[in-house]
Amino acid sequence: MSLANLPPLREVIQQHDLAARKSLGQNFLLDLNLTSKIARQAGDLTTHDVLEIGPGPGGLTRALLLEGARKVVAIETDDRCLPALAEIAQAASGRLEVLHGDALKLDPLSHLKPPIAVVANLPYNVGTELLVRWLTPGVWPPFWDSLTLMFQREVAQRIVAKPGSKAYGRLAVLSQFRCDAHICFELPPQAFSPPPKVTSAVVHLKALQAPRFNADPKILSEVVARAFNQRRKMLRASLRGLVPNVQELLLSAGIDPQRRAETVSLEEFCRLSELVRAARRT
Ligand code: SAM
Repeated sequence: MSLANLPPLREVIQQHDLAARKSLGQNFLLDLNLTSKIARQAGDLTTHDVLEIGPGPGGLTRALLLEGARKVVAIETDDRCLPALAEIAQAASGRLEVLHGDALKLDPLSHLKPPIAVVANLPYNVGTELLVRWLTPGVWPPFWDSLTLMFQREVAQRIVAKPGSKAYGRLAVLSQFRCDAHICFELPPQAFSPPPKVTSAVVHLKALQAPRFNADPKILSEVVARAFNQRRKMLRASLRGLVPNVQELLLSAGIDPQRRAETVSLEEFCRLSELVRAARRT
């Protein structure tokens, strides 16, 4: 059977008894027009291997293959989905490899060749943790060229948020430090089966070759985590203990110590991190 002739996803779900499980964050996309639209946000896949997390019954997986992905490596934890995915693998003549396991524990890199695009309708329970890992690797540029990911809308807004907005925080700084990030489109709950309680959104992040501003990524992460852990406090309080004289350091970075984290731009956070680095060296 060819990819285009595979049975409709509703039939596949019935045939393999894939009643969605909340504990696994299972909200399936059954409309292949929609999954194709998501796959297209990742750009030209014919030159890329794709890492997909949580293929479920395989709606997005089919779209990625139909869009011409060179190879798709899909990690799925639910063994009930494996027979349905094996049917897709057969129709894809070697372009789909399914890894059974937990995406938080499995390292798929030996199965993939660069350039690599990550595309996923992520399970909500592990989505943010995976994103933070992908954004904070040991070396940069990372193993991936781009991330095209479905999140609940609030998380998507936190990724692209600008200073001064409620959504602006650690996720925005970590994302925008070394990526271009934008929201592609939103999806209403009814797009999924079963419908979740929230609206979802697809986000696209493209890795920059080098950071937007100079900063040690580990120190930047630490500064931002501290600053936003107590986001209602003034920086001179939330950053206390970062270095012996935090107030002086903020002033040297040109940042009023009475400001709150949500007003501080990415460039200012980077400048501050560089001064922390210098202060710790002396
Ligand atoms: N991609 C499918 C779609 O769009 O219809 C399913 C998306 S559903 C939101 C999330 C999928 O991730 C489920 O198939 C679930 O079993 C799987 N999953 C949940 N936790 C996982 C984990 N830790 N590692 C790998 N897959 C996981």
